[in-house]
Amino acid sequence: MGLFGGNKKLCPICQNPAAWMLPTKVEGQPLCGSCAKKASQLPDNRNVKNMTVEEFRAFTTFYDGNASLRSAFRESYRYDFGIFGGSISLDARRRLLRFSTEDSALVFEASNLRSFCVLEDSDLLFEGTKDGLFCYQSAIPDRVRNLGPEIDRFLRDQRQYEQMEQMDKMLKKKAGETSESYSSNYYPRPDIDRLKPFEKFYLRIELDHPYWSGNEYAQGAPDFISFDPSITSYLREYEMKTGELHELAVQLMAVLSPGAPERG
Ligand SMILES: [Zn+2]
Repeated sequence: MGLFGGNKKLCPICQNPAAWMLPTKVEGQPLCGSCAKKASQLPDNRNVKNMTVEEFRAFTTFYDGNASLRSAFRESYRYDFGIFGGSISLDARRRLLRFSTEDSALVFEASNLRSFCVLEDSDLLFEGTKDGLFCYQSAIPDRVRNLGPEIDRFLRDQRQYEQMEQMDKMLKKKAGETSESYSSNYYPRPDIDRLKPFEKFYLRIELDHPYWSGNEYAQGAPDFISFDPSITSYLREYEMKTGELHELAVQLMAVLSPGAPERG
């Protein structure tokens, strides 16, 4: 039994040699690279670690059956949710979608898509069903327009903080010169994020599918800039983001229910 000897493990699904470095396992048995890649197409809540060999074999058969949709897929629209947020990719003409821009990604058909919604934290902004797209009135713009006094308070706190910091530095220097002991006072830095009216946009998708019950994406809400917190620039960025998300909702409707009305 040498280093390259005959004790190489075989993938329990396809009998090809199993991957030897940090392999994905099913029932403790290492998979080959190709089957491990298929395992990565399972949703987060149906991890291959919790499946039996037979259950996973059924999934690989399902995934292989999806190949014709994968090769037919032509991307007509894509939305990127930021660096680690992932992407959604649509083919409006064939009414298909996938949760990644990679050609190996599982492709879903319109019949798999039950509904979707776009949220601001937990508040509905857009909701798409077979009956149509509903656009909700958001409370965010008004909340932002009323932030004037709070922004003034933040700027006051920030000026005060900077003065305190300056004074602290001076006292420390003086103490150093006279070799007295000096302990810095702690002043909390005013937090600009306190002004943020909400944290995140979410896209939530509900599916009718043997493996995927749904999917969720998140994208950070606009930020205030601490040296110049401006209502106008916040609202400009907010309008731009919600405009892009509205376009995403319209594009998703083209897959879910083309020609369905838009209301609200
Ligand atoms: Zn395999």
